[in-house]
Parts: sequence; structure tokens; C-alpha cells
Amino acid sequence: MSEFDVIVVGAGPAGASAAIKLASAKANVLLVDRADPPGSKNVSGGVLWGDSLSQVAPDWEKGPVERYVEAKGVSFLTKDSRISIDFRSKKFGEYKSGYTVLRTKFDAWLAKKAKDSGAMVVSGVTIDKLSMKDGKAIGVEQAGETITADAVIIAEGANSRVAINSGIKKKPSDRHIALGIKEIIKLPEKTITERFGLSSAKMGFASEYVLGFLDGGVKAGGFLYTNKESVSIGAVISMGDLRNNNQTYSFNIIEQFKEHPFIAPLLEGGRVEEYSAHLVPEGGLAVNSIHGNGYMIAGDAAGFTFSNGLVLQGMNYAIVSGIVAADSFLQKKEKGIGAGANFSNYTDNLSKTFVLKDMKNFRGVDAVTWSNSIHQTIPAIAEEAMLNMFSESGEPKEHLAKILFKSLKERKESKKDLAMDLYRMMRRM
Ligand SMILES: Cc1cc2nc3c(=O)[nH]c(=O)nc-3n(C[C@H](O)[C@H](O)[C@H](O)COP(=O)(O)OP(=O)(O)OC[C@H]3O[C@@H](n4cnc5c(N)ncnc54)[C@H](O)[C@@H]3O)c2cc1C
Repeated sequence: MSEFDVIVVGAGPAGASAAIKLASAKANVLLVDRADPPGSKNVSGGVLWGDSLSQVAPDWEKGPVERYVEAKGVSFLTKDSRISIDFRSKKFGEYKSGYTVLRTKFDAWLAKKAKDSGAMVVSGVTIDKLSMKDGKAIGVEQAGETITADAVIIAEGANSRVAINSGIKKKPSDRHIALGIKEIIKLPEKTITERFGLSSAKMGFASEYVLGFLDGGVKAGGFLYTNKESVSIGAVISMGDLRNNNQTYSFNIIEQFKEHPFIAPLLEGGRVEEYSAHLVPEGGLAVNSIHGNGYMIAGDAAGFTFSNGLVLQGMNYAIVSGIVAADSFLQKKEKGIGAGANFSNYTDNLSKTFVLKDMKNFRGVDAVTWSNSIHQTIPAIAEEAMLNMFSESGEPKEHLAKILFKSLKERKESKKDLAMDLYRMMRRM
């Protein structure tokens, strides 16, 4: 007989949600995290979008959340300009947006919820791999010791030691992984509320940026989110560009972003409190199968993030996949199916949710996210069009279409590539 019903590897949003769900159903669960306390090595922008967490923690909005997003921005930054959409809506009350969260606090709170629900939570322990017997996972291995369980939920995030060591995931290529870097900058609560034009100290601003001006043409997306008394600012950088260019390092990308003429004033008077870096999966599903005999893979470990340059979501996908993995175990247990079961029901159940539907429908969106068109051509053309439209030269005015065509004609980039990227944008974004 196994020592545990389920071992959950990783106490991020995926693992903690799975553990809460399982423990609440009286399953015997071990939740293990390499960090002590759990979550202390985790990084997110981070806006927790939607309300998925209420399935396992109905009171989560009263937990350690920072500000409710009432204003969402998207900007293209060129060297001299910012071209933005600043979307604010009273309807963000009915259309759930999200709360900014600070992961060190938030993950510790979630792990405690798992413990309070009855899970055994062990922190500061790194699991090495699955323990396999006759093609079935019978538990996990740590420093040569085996801990047995009827099922393992691998929720170890993008840096997937267990899945890779167990031969169920390949090391990701540069195309399928990006580097996220983040700083937390301390500012007074009142300054944040006033500076970002927010209606109260409970309300927040969240914005993504296309950073089209970086040295060496490195492609990166920026983000800036307001917390109660700090802002989270950071960049997600193409790993290939980072490796292959000879002039820009990860740390000076965030510096260039912070020093941009239309970002620096937002940070004025702030003090850097925290600096962190983390991998971000790109391009959808990162494994051939998210289930096997005796195991399921949830969250970032499976590649469940949605990133298209305008939004970056992953925590909500992690939570839903963790809960569905837990449910799928409980389904098998109810039928009396014991250790090493084949969890194909996890794939079936997750296919009915937005997680696998989005992975399927938006497959290939990374080609758009990291295209030259998004990062260079479109911002440059938009900048020129805006300058033409919003200035007075003393000459007769031109139609917008003519301005755009002229600007496009003057640029060196391939028109065919731009047309292709625009087509992909229509199809995939
Ligand atoms: C810079 C940045 C900004 C982001 N912004 C957002 C955002 O605004 N909104 C959003 O929704 N998503 C955002 N994301 C994505 C989001 O952070 C992830 O999708 C989400 O954290 C995935 O949750 P997870 O539980 O799958 O993995 P993780 O949160 O990575 O948790 C994995 C856990 O497993 C533990 N672990 C790892 N290996 C082992 C091991 N071998 N043994 C034991 N424990 C182990 C880790 O310590 C960690 O606690 C961002 C990501 C980054 C990097």
C-alpha cells in the first residue's frame, strides 16, 4: 500500500490548488516544495486573472491580494514614443478582471490553506524524479529515497526537473522558453493611486508593453502592475535573442525599460525592493501527453500559459489544471482504481475547460508574439502615422491610408513578412 494517495510536486498555484481540492475530499496528500517557505522562489507579474481560485478557496479575495484591476493598458514603446490603449471600465465589476498579487505572500497563504485543509506540506525539499516500476509511477525519488503514492501530480513549474529527469518532457528549446525578470519598486500608496489615476487605493492598473526600442533589436514584452504600496515592473525576453545578441544582457533590458522617457516618471521616487527572474513557457503544450500511468502534469510544467504580447496569463491556467488533476484522481479513486492508474480522464476533463481549448485554439501564437512586425514594423509605422495626424505642418493633410502606405513603403522590412504576420495575428491572437 502506498504511503500517500497523492504526492503533489510544487506548491505554486497549480500544486497548492490541487492539494486543497484533494485534502478537502479527505485524500491523504503530500505537497512538497523546494522553497522554504513555499512560494518564496516564485515569480509572477502578477495579475491573478478571473475567479478560478474560488473553486477551492471561496474567500480568496479577502486573502493577500493587492489591488483590483480597474484599468488595463497595452502600449507599444519606440525609442521616443508611447502608443497606448488605456482601457478603463466600470464593467470590470461584472466582467471579472483580476487582482494584483505578490507571490511570496500569496503562495505562502495558499500553502497554508492546503495545510489547513489536511494536506501534509513539506518545504525546502527538491524532488528529483518519478519513481517508476513496470512503466508506472509509484511515487517520487528524493536523494535516493522513494516516497510512494497512488498518483503524482507534477506541478513544478517551467523549470521541470522531475518531468525532464523522468523522461516525460524534453528540455525546452529557446523558442519554447522565455526569461522573465521583475523588480518590485516601493512607492507610497497615495502616490500610486494618484499617479495612475485610480479611483481608490483598492483599485489597480495593469499594463503590457511591446518593447520595440531595445539595444541589439532584442525582443521583449514589458509589464507594469500596481500593488498596494509598490509597483511590479518587468520584462519577458526572447531566450533566442538574449543568447544570440552580443550587446544586451537581461539586467540592462529592465534598466532600458525603466529609463524609457514615458516609464521613468511613473517610477519616480521609488526604491527597488526586490529583484527576481524566472522562466516562462512559450508556445503552448510543452509535453506530448499531460497524463501517464500514475501521474498528471499541471500548470507551467505542462506549458499552460497564454501570452500574446497583450496579455500574460498563467496562474489561472495553473489553478484550473491543478483542480482538474485533483478531480481526476478522485474520480478514479471513487471507482476503486488504485496505484499507477492511467489518468487519461485528466486529459478528457481538462479538454472541457478553457485550459486545453485555449492551448489548441491559440497554438502558434508565439510566432506573432516574437515577430519583427509586432516589435519593430508596426510600432514604427504607428508612430509615424500619429506624428502626421497629431501635428500641423502647414501642408495639406493626407488620408490615413496614404500615410500608412507611404510609411510602409519607406521601411526596409519585407512587406510579405508583414502581410504574413498580420494574417497570423488575425488568425491566432
Ligand atoms: C515575470 C513573470 C510574469 C508573469 N506574470 C503573470 C501574470 O501577471 N499573470 C499570470 O497569470 N501569470 C503570470 N506569469 C506566469 C505565472 O507565474 C505562471 O504561469 C504560474 O506561476 C504557474 O504556476 P505553477 O503552479 O504551474 O508553477 P510555479 O508557480 O512556477 O510553481 C512551481 C512550484 O514548484 C516548486 N518546485 C519546482 N521544482 C521542484 C522540485 N523539483 N521539487 C519540489 N518543488 C519544486 C517551486 O518552488 C514552485 O513553488 C508570469 C511569469 C513570470 C515569470
